[in-house]
Amino acid sequence: MLELKDLELRVGTFALRASCDVDPASRIAVIGPSGAGKSTLLMALAGFLKPFVGNMIWQGVDITKTDPSARPFSVLFQDNNLFPHMSVAQNVGLGLRPSLRLSSEEAAKVDDALTAVGLTGVGGRKPAELSGGQQSRAALARVLVQSKPMILLDEPFAALGPALKIEMLDLVSDLCAETGAGLLMVSHDPEDAKRICDSTILVADGIAHAPTATDDLLSDPPEALRAYLGK
Ligand code: ADP
Ligand code: MG
Repeated sequence: MLELKDLELRVGTFALRASCDVDPASRIAVIGPSGAGKSTLLMALAGFLKPFVGNMIWQGVDITKTDPSARPFSVLFQDNNLFPHMSVAQNVGLGLRPSLRLSSEEAAKVDDALTAVGLTGVGGRKPAELSGGQQSRAALARVLVQSKPMILLDEPFAALGPALKIEMLDLVSDLCAETGAGLLMVSHDPEDAKRICDSTILVADGIAHAPTATDDLLSDPPEALRAYLGK
């Protein structure tokens, strides 16, 4: 279990509270208005933002002060963060080893990850030589190669067209099923949540709410979500 214990996150004058249990093996969407604190929540989980108060407990162990690389999460933020001067394989390899001195076993893992996302044979290319959809796949391979228990995605496919986005969502869903990884995915589109997430965390009015079954939440939205959905 991932336990958020009386967390309060602060960025400038903004504050977000979260106090709930999260099933790390499930697929969870994080939705809510722009500026509500969705990215802030992911930054804190990933270890890039120190909580103002409270603790994060992973399988009984306090990870509040654990380094990002030692946390049970691999993270993909919105802008993919592929390095243009490196090959696709090198970009993926960074997920394993920042020095890029990969053992043959690690190099094989990079190949496997590229194959898993449908990029067999393009490891030698530069990101600019890939289509937008392929770049998203490469970024996903870098997340995958880390073999962490949970994948955190912050609006990773927002820049893709509708058909490509659906393709990527289904790929993420398949990869989670194959690897057993859990998913925490920020999206501004409730349809994304409906498509691949069993439960959803609503972030609104300074609170990250406990995960609720996505269908229940969207069929009978609370006031804060109704305003956001325009219903
Ligand atoms: P979301 O991802 O839900 O759109 P964010 O987590 O990015 O929202 O931002 C939450 C709030 O934190 C925003 O309303 C903004 O006011 C504040 N914020 C974000 N980044 C900064 C920053 N670098 N300095 C000050 N305030 C910030
Ligand atoms: Mg955001």
